[in-house]
Amino acid sequence: MTRVGFGFDLHPLRRGRPLVLGGVTLPSEIGLDGHSDADVLCHAVGEALLGALALGDLGRHFPDTDPRYHGISSLVLLDKTMELVRARGGRLVNVDATVLAQAPRLLPHLDEMAKRLADTLGVGGDAVSVKAKSPEGLGLLGRKEGIAAMAVVSVEVT
Ligand code: MG
Repeated sequence: MTRVGFGFDLHPLRRGRPLVLGGVTLPSEIGLDGHSDADVLCHAVGEALLGALALGDLGRHFPDTDPRYHGISSLVLLDKTMELVRARGGRLVNVDATVLAQAPRLLPHLDEMAKRLADTLGVGGDAVSVKAKSPEGLGLLGRKEGIAAMAVVSVEVT
């Protein structure tokens, strides 16, 4: 049986925070704020994985009240999420993700993000797609108040 999962995440941008997307730290004076490293791309993919198996959301498995997850790399959370998927007989087929950011320009970093994600998820590079979209100056994303990400995954369950 093949199942599909969808994930979305949004974090605020703050001066002095590192900007981590897909496990890659990007050169930027502003970064995403949150309990973990606030990597919206990893979080969207993790939400999608959990969604594919109807396992709830990331907050349920990795609560932001738990000091173990303070400042943690979201790649670690993604690795733990894949363990949950595998434990239920799930095999990740592919990921398609989009990051919505006004700045910085993400295109030069997309391949590296996809590779980090693929390595963490234990799939080949051709199974992970990471795309970037500019919000064209519109709304909170256009005003650089935050960065959002969306992801769809396909999981085969045996
Ligand atoms: Mg998040």
